[in-house]
Amino acid sequence: MDFQLSEEQLEIQKWAHEFAEKEIRPVAAEYDESEEFPWPVLKKAAEAGLYGIDIYLQAQQDPTGLTLPIIAEEIFWGCAGIGLSLMGTGLPLSALAGVGTQEQLFEWAPKMFGTPEDPKLGAFAVTEPQAGSDVRSLRTRAKREGGEWVLNGQKTYITNGQYADVYIVVATVDPELGHRGQASFIIHKDDGGIKPGKKEKKLGIRASDTSEVLLEDCRIPIDRVLGGMDKLEAKLEKARKGESSGRQSAALRTFEMTRPAVAIQAVGIARAALEFATEYSKERQAFGVPISQHQSIQNHLADMAVEVEASRLLTYKAAWLAGSGQPFNKAEGSMSKLKAGETAVKVTEMAVQILGGAGYIKDFPVEKWYRDSKIYTIFEGTSEIQRMVIARALLS
Ligand SMILES: Cc1cc2nc3c(=O)[nH]c(=O)nc-3n(C[C@H](O)[C@H](O)[C@H](O)COP(=O)(O)OP(=O)(O)OC[C@H]3O[C@@H](n4cnc5c(N)ncnc54)[C@H](O)[C@@H]3O)c2cc1C
Repeated sequence: MDFQLSEEQLEIQKWAHEFAEKEIRPVAAEYDESEEFPWPVLKKAAEAGLYGIDIYLQAQQDPTGLTLPIIAEEIFWGCAGIGLSLMGTGLPLSALAGVGTQEQLFEWAPKMFGTPEDPKLGAFAVTEPQAGSDVRSLRTRAKREGGEWVLNGQKTYITNGQYADVYIVVATVDPELGHRGQASFIIHKDDGGIKPGKKEKKLGIRASDTSEVLLEDCRIPIDRVLGGMDKLEAKLEKARKGESSGRQSAALRTFEMTRPAVAIQAVGIARAALEFATEYSKERQAFGVPISQHQSIQNHLADMAVEVEASRLLTYKAAWLAGSGQPFNKAEGSMSKLKAGETAVKVTEMAVQILGGAGYIKDFPVEKWYRDSKIYTIFEGTSEIQRMVIARALLS
């Protein structure tokens, strides 16, 4: 066991940090206020090589699984809303890479990212108005008509939903089979029958787009089902016979594999708040001394530091399990997401407390980090759902 990052990993960390410091932090408040999508930052990231398929290919070569988490911590240290705009396409890419055929991966991954001159986005659309945590209750239907699939339904709260070129949409093929009757489909924005709906206004991560996606007689070729027709038919056949599939549905597996990648985003926000509060406490005077000399403030800072460190270690372990292809026997992916998400909320709240009134106003970035952190106990599985998954792994 070695806790030392390699030379290469340290270099990548420095590179991502410099980008976050120069290109993200200075515009974070502006995008938070306007809620516009940060296209200029995405373009700069694509030109720098931080956004695009190549960075994911490079990360795949790292057997420790830490390349992407190292990058993400720095980017989200810069701003979580902009960070999600830069890394949200990783989610549909994971579904494509995890469940799609090689042909599908080679054809569609480049279309999700575009080029540095003309970057594109991808979106992973599972959630519906009546089905968030309860993914078994999806109502979006995919019906086969000759050589085509026809999709109808409404997706909600979809990251990049407004602007994506490529959507991975989870829909029900056979409602009688519950979640085992679901499949994922690759849809291009120009296929017709798919369009973005309402763009949501949010508490935090406001630079990131969260929108409805509407499907109305969306017709796509039969081979756009993720993994291909043979795999789908074999899966449905097994489910109809009541045989165990021996594996989770595509959507659930994608969520489990991507949880450490989301956890590290929360670590980035929490670290930003810890660093800021620490520096502030050395400057702010109260009762004739810097507040850092008051025992209560020291206790807050110590607790924050312990939580950030523990969250990162748990996340690194889960990322290492994913990167080295090992199973998540104890639901370590869910553990990392639960711990880091709750840590981000706790640590940013403590940072607001340490700054006092200054923590509550927009002249300082701490109130924004507090707002940004809350989503990490909600999306990619709520804290309640993570606990359920962990308990299930313990009790099975
Ligand atoms: C900013 C943002 C971005 C998002 N991005 C995406 C995206 O890109 N793609 C996508 O598909 N979705 C996305 N989502 C949706 C997100 O994943 C869901 O909001 C989340 O899974 C929770 O579902 P829900 O909102 O329907 O809450 P509900 O499922 O209605 O949950 C409400 C409450 O009930 C609790 N609860 C529900 N079931 C149980 C249970 N069995 N046991 C205990 N407690 C339970 C929950 O924990 C929660 O506290 C996003 C959401 C937001 C806000």
